[in-house]
Amino acid sequence: MADLYLPGGHLSDQITLTGLTATGHHGVFDHEKENGQEFIVDLTIHTTFKYARNSDDLGKTINYGEVADRLAAIITGEPVNLIEVLAERIAAEVLDMGALAVDVTVHKPHAPIQQVFRDVSVSIRRLSVLLQTPKPAAEVVIGLGSNLNDPVAQVEIGAGKVARILMNERKSRTRVTAAQVLPGAPSQPNYINAIMIGNTTLSPLALLAELQRIEDEQGRTRDERWGPRTLDLDIVSYKIAGREVVSDDPDLTLPHPQAHLRDFVIEPWAEVDPWGTLRGKPLR
Ligand code: AMP
Repeated sequence: MADLYLPGGHLSDQITLTGLTATGHHGVFDHEKENGQEFIVDLTIHTTFKYARNSDDLGKTINYGEVADRLAAIITGEPVNLIEVLAERIAAEVLDMGALAVDVTVHKPHAPIQQVFRDVSVSIRRLSVLLQTPKPAAEVVIGLGSNLNDPVAQVEIGAGKVARILMNERKSRTRVTAAQVLPGAPSQPNYINAIMIGNTTLSPLALLAELQRIEDEQGRTRDERWGPRTLDLDIVSYKIAGREVVSDDPDLTLPHPQAHLRDFVIEPWAEVDPWGTLRGKPLR
């Protein structure tokens, strides 16, 4: 299948598994359900190797041995009529393992076709929720923070740019918070923080790419993880039809893992959305 470009313009990294073969009992005819036949699966997993590359750790990638075992279990498992359904089950399983997207082809070379043929197959591409256009538009909460180069102006300018990528947007007042400094680290100026809420039809990763573009425009450098910053934009929460999108992907963890612990997030959020919820609970 065609290449997959991720928001921000990078090509996905790919793990490809081809020719995985197992006997299953899928098919419309009774004799197919009784006797079983060979099914062959080809798979391309779209992911990022950023974390595996930097750690050389199997735990930081999608383990193809485990993928193969799970596919075999699906093929040999509960029979379905259609290979279209089998392909969907396989795609859902691989997305569940943390893939950003997956291309699945299911071959049924001994399908009951009354003509001479070599193979018949179905192919699908399925995207993780992080790449899907939300329907209806998502309800998002964005955290803004700055403690460098005129932070009040940084947050105001940043908020103006964020407003352009949201609909029905509302912004909280800004507030001042002392920087949290790790033991032994140099002190840092106070932070100016604010929250924006609004709607978007951008997928979660497309929204993150837009926010990172705005951060970069305002001179953000990414060399020091917890260092001072001109503008920090976080996706605090991303809901579709009131349901929180949950992700443990290190590139986009949702809801934001520290948000519920941070007064400088919760209080301005409650100011613009008193009935807001985070992790299924009222804000306060
Ligand atoms: P920070 O320096 O704290 O802004 O962290 C930036 C990194 O956190 C980026 O590489 C993002 O991909 C990642 N990240 C993970 N979850 C989120 C989130 N909910 N919002 C913004 N960035 C996130």
